[in-house]
Amino acid sequence: MTSGVLTPEELPNLLRQRVRDAVAYRKQVVQNTDAYRLIFSEADFLPGLIVDRYNDVLSVQALTQAIDTDVVREAVVAALVDEIKPSGILERVEPRVRELEKLPPRESQLLHGEKTSTVFTMNGVKFHFDGLHGQKTGAFLDQRENYAAAEQYAQGEVLDMFCYQGGFALHLARRCDKVTAVDSSRPALEVAEQNASLNSREIEWMEANAFDLLKDYATAGRQYDTIILDPPAFAKSKRDLDAAARGYKELNLRALKMLRPGGVLLTCSCSYHVSEQALQDIVVAASLDAHRTVRILEKRSQSKDHPIVPTIPETAYLKALILNVV
Ligand code: SAH
Repeated sequence: MTSGVLTPEELPNLLRQRVRDAVAYRKQVVQNTDAYRLIFSEADFLPGLIVDRYNDVLSVQALTQAIDTDVVREAVVAALVDEIKPSGILERVEPRVRELEKLPPRESQLLHGEKTSTVFTMNGVKFHFDGLHGQKTGAFLDQRENYAAAEQYAQGEVLDMFCYQGGFALHLARRCDKVTAVDSSRPALEVAEQNASLNSREIEWMEANAFDLLKDYATAGRQYDTIILDPPAFAKSKRDLDAAARGYKELNLRALKMLRPGGVLLTCSCSYHVSEQALQDIVVAASLDAHRTVRILEKRSQSKDHPIVPTIPETAYLKALILNVV
């Protein structure tokens, strides 16, 4: 590729090499898990290609026109089979994304092998994965290292807001007295419940709107020792920034008021447009309103299988602050 011009004959080889490089990088940086992002788009020099590994099943997403071709699919699948030898490779389609990228409609389907569901393990905690038949499937693999970090500081009674399938809750249940976990999605909570059984853990799962529930609980004077706030991206674009900041502030303000002295707050933003400094400023403003002092235990980001390339700013999107609340 010295000329800088890629001939059609060279494309499959280039793709294979990039897949091999992505696999080698994970071997270097991924620990304590059989589930991780194997290919992270631009950060692995394959713009628009996402591949997640859940134990012996791989989930592929093609998000750009350049990647959404038979030639690319075949070369990528062949390389993944060589490198990983999975029992199944499936392609996950999000119709809304395909529409946005002007890609023709396509169904989620198996690309290789037969297996579409499995059990995977992160930090010793087990999770169900059902790639084709489950509801919204997959895990937030980018939070994996934050689960382990949270577990180090968590204590007492825990409130896990926006719990999805129980990533934080299941980790924290290993060392805390009582865990209550909240999400507005019933399908997510159904998987969460199955995950709790798989790990023989008791967790109180609640289907509720986080904003309403926090308001009710704060009014009722409920108190916790550890609160996790991991909301969806409130700022999908720059235009949403003001509304997003108000949303983050409200959540953090209520959580800070409900924490017992010495409590732990783990607060996240996965909005690319909200910088780490902006999140910190919002949390500090909330702490002043709540008359609480926060001490920063850790400033964290996404797991290393979602590499951050400083020259490609969009690769850095997840921020997590772990705070001791005085
Ligand atoms: N903490 C989770 C990931 C959270 S993703 C993990 O580590 O796996 C964001 C979650 O917020 C989704 O599960 C979504 O269903 C939920 N959600 C979105 N809006 C909500 C709301 N208003 N109230 C409660 N949950 C909400």
